[in-house]
Formats: sequence, C-alpha cells, structure tokens
Amino acid sequence: MKEKVPEIIKNLEKRNITGYFANTKEQGLAIALSFVREGMIVSWGGSMTLEETGLKTEIRRLEQEGKIRLIDAHSINDPRLNHEARRRSLLANLYYMSTNAITLGGELMNIDGFGNRVAALAFGPEKVVILCGTNKITENLEDAYKRIKEVACPKNAARLGRSTPCIETGRCCECLVSNSTLCGTVTTTRFCNEKGRIHVILIDDSLGF
Ligand code: SF4
Repeated sequence: MKEKVPEIIKNLEKRNITGYFANTKEQGLAIALSFVREGMIVSWGGSMTLEETGLKTEIRRLEQEGKIRLIDAHSINDPRLNHEARRRSLLANLYYMSTNAITLGGELMNIDGFGNRVAALAFGPEKVVILCGTNKITENLEDAYKRIKEVACPKNAARLGRSTPCIETGRCCECLVSNSTLCGTVTTTRFCNEKGRIHVILIDDSLGF
C-alpha cells in the first residue's frame, strides 16, 4: 500500500487535512513530536500505534521534564476521575490518536466504545495528530467498515478484556453489551472545516490493529 500514499495525501489535502509520509516508525515519531510546544496540554486516545511508535514514552518524558502537561485518562483507574479526564482531554491543545482505517480517497473511519476519541477528532482539541500504519489503508469506506469489524474490533476487544462475541468468532453480530461493546459510535471524517487542525502521518509499517 506504500505506493498509494501520494494519492492519499493528495486526497487528504482536498479534505483540508494535511498528510505526511514516513518511511519508518522513527521518522513518523519525529514528525508527530514536531507539533509539541512548551506549556501545551497534550492528550491522546487509546491506541496501540501510539505505544508501538514510542510516542507515549516520549510525551511522558516531556511531561516529567515539566515541558508539557499530559492528560492520560488511561492511567486513571477511578471511574469518576477517569471520566473527568476524558472530558478535559477534549480541551487539550494537542491530541494524538490513530485511525481505525483510512481510505484511498482520504476518509478516516473510526469506532469508539465511549466516544471520547472520535469526539476529539471531530471537535475540541486545537490540533489532532494521527499516526497510522499503511496496514490500515483500505480501498473505500465499505472495506474500511469491514476491516474495523473483522480485524480492529475483535483484536482490540481481546486486548481490553471486553466480553464481546467477535473475540470468539472474529465476526460482528452488532452486540449491545454495556461497558463492553467497542462499537458505540462509528464515525467517518470526510472534511475538516478548520484547515491545519487535523494531520495524518502515514507510516510504512504495520502498526496497531
Ligand atoms: S458490535 Fe460488538 S460484536 Fe460487532 S465488532 Fe463491535 S464489539 Fe464486536
């Protein structure tokens, strides 16, 4: 899919989304960190890609050095405080996430159990920086939805210890399980009215699910 990246970046541009290509995880990480400014409030959505690229490690280091403030809801176990942190993350200066799929046309498709991650993508944080492996490129929205339901959801549900049928079967049965279903909200980002707000770094690697 690497050869499709120039076409995707061109299509992202039409959607007011800035695209970048990185040959390696290290290059992708360097681009992602170039958005950080001293004093910023930084947050992120749940993502294996952010772990695998080393982004989370670097941001935590900057926080320890007192250069930024980090809102990391995933490190908070108390349900009330965790919920509060997710709400505050919507006002971050900089929000990192991955996307569950990106089409050749430049559309981003995401699912979210509670909705805080896709809410941040749609509105709130001043800048959203998305790190995405080329394994998440799909032909179109139909394939993106299929990929999410058959690949991303079962793997993420297992990783998060949820009780969803897709973990066992690898297939979606449109479950409705409180505090377990990952498919609370499904979003397609097809245009960003605020040019310069959303940035997508496509990395030539297999990252996340
Ligand atoms: S709706 Fe339920 S079964 Fe279907 S993919 Fe989502 S979590 Fe899995």
